[in-house]
Amino acid sequence: MNTVADTAKTLRESIRVPDALRRFAPHVRLYKNGVERCGACPKCGDGGKGESSDRFYITVDGKACACRKCHTQRMDVAGMVAWLLDVPMHEALDVLNGHTQAPSVVTHNVHSEVSPVTDTDSQTSDWRALAAQRSQQAHERLLGDTETAASARAYLTARGLTQDTWRAFTLGYERAKVPQSTVWSPAICWPVTHEMTGETVGMRYRFLETQHVQINGKEVRYTSLHGSRTSGRLFGTKLLCDTVARYKCLVITEGEFNAMSVWQACNVAGVDVLSFGSESQRILPAWAVQVASHYSAVVTWLDDADKARQVSAQLSQAATLRSLVSEDGKEDANVLLLAGTLGGLVQTARLHAVQTEQRASVLWDLWDAWRAGELDAGQVQVGKQLAHALGKCDTWPLTRVVVGGSPPPTVQCDATITRHLREWVSTDTSNVSYLC
Ligand SMILES: [Zn+2]
Repeated sequence: MNTVADTAKTLRESIRVPDALRRFAPHVRLYKNGVERCGACPKCGDGGKGESSDRFYITVDGKACACRKCHTQRMDVAGMVAWLLDVPMHEALDVLNGHTQAPSVVTHNVHSEVSPVTDTDSQTSDWRALAAQRSQQAHERLLGDTETAASARAYLTARGLTQDTWRAFTLGYERAKVPQSTVWSPAICWPVTHEMTGETVGMRYRFLETQHVQINGKEVRYTSLHGSRTSGRLFGTKLLCDTVARYKCLVITEGEFNAMSVWQACNVAGVDVLSFGSESQRILPAWAVQVASHYSAVVTWLDDADKARQVSAQLSQAATLRSLVSEDGKEDANVLLLAGTLGGLVQTARLHAVQTEQRASVLWDLWDAWRAGELDAGQVQVGKQLAHALGKCDTWPLTRVVVGGSPPPTVQCDATITRHLREWVSTDTSNVSYLC
């Protein structure tokens, strides 16, 4: 059996720095300067020199790299990934190991020949089994409607999330230790699962109450179960359905609550979701790029402009959304879910991303979900416009369209989307101000 050291050695020898750089920092463009490849640094930038910057370089053999400005010591491929992702070396090796096993499509059926990526580090299968059990107990505690979990149930309900959603994402209730303190505080929790094996590799917590502890000047809102290995993992993997992905839309977003909101509003109408969660990862792991390529439409909703750019560079085609920030705060997916207009926005962005000839399949998704009683007013409106545009008005019973209701919030979109939306909504502007 391979030892950790063997695996690390093999990874270091088999993956070249330029290949890993393309995966983990796809925005970096290098050029040849004599024998080395060089360019702007993925970490500290170009120093104002733009394309001609050469502070970051990869050695001629492709086995090491360094930045003359911020990391003069040479790094091998594992060192570079640890540096780029800001994770400990063992996690970098885990990510790289996933990288070598990918590409593999996410599937619900765990293939027995796929060994868990995490076997290469210190997390044991016992840890994972216990974490899975703990997560399940916390889930039952939340659903059990007990006095103890009442605050958690009230918190989720106030954020507009229904019990179906709690079940889908295995939300639970537990007290968690507040980092850098001795206090235990009530929290919503959920398992972090591995996309290939389905194993529980971590547990995340969102505290219900404001904590007085600050880390890097920010109030602590999230924490993980000690021993969790969440690097390279995304939120929502268990709910992806790869068999019909080619007809569906994938939304890539940030934050677990935003992801659950999108899922709740649009899943029945053909939208899957993947989220960076509350982690600080800035790029998609290779497996997620692969997964996204199976969808007929990809929409990203990332509010940090740099991160949005990096993620878009990893995807062949995607529509992009951004939350509008007003004086009342950020109008993110959860805020729009509460306003009843989230679905309309997501489906419109989807129409922007999808090939023209596939628009009809979006209409059938909306139609089916409407018949199942699962469409919010915004999606009904999009469906109605789409039926008009495709000349299928007879199919959509316009008399039952729900129009009006809460004051329309605004969402900031790319100029291209705005233009596209005008096209779709030009025949009826009575309740479409939610579309930019
Ligand atoms: Zn640098």
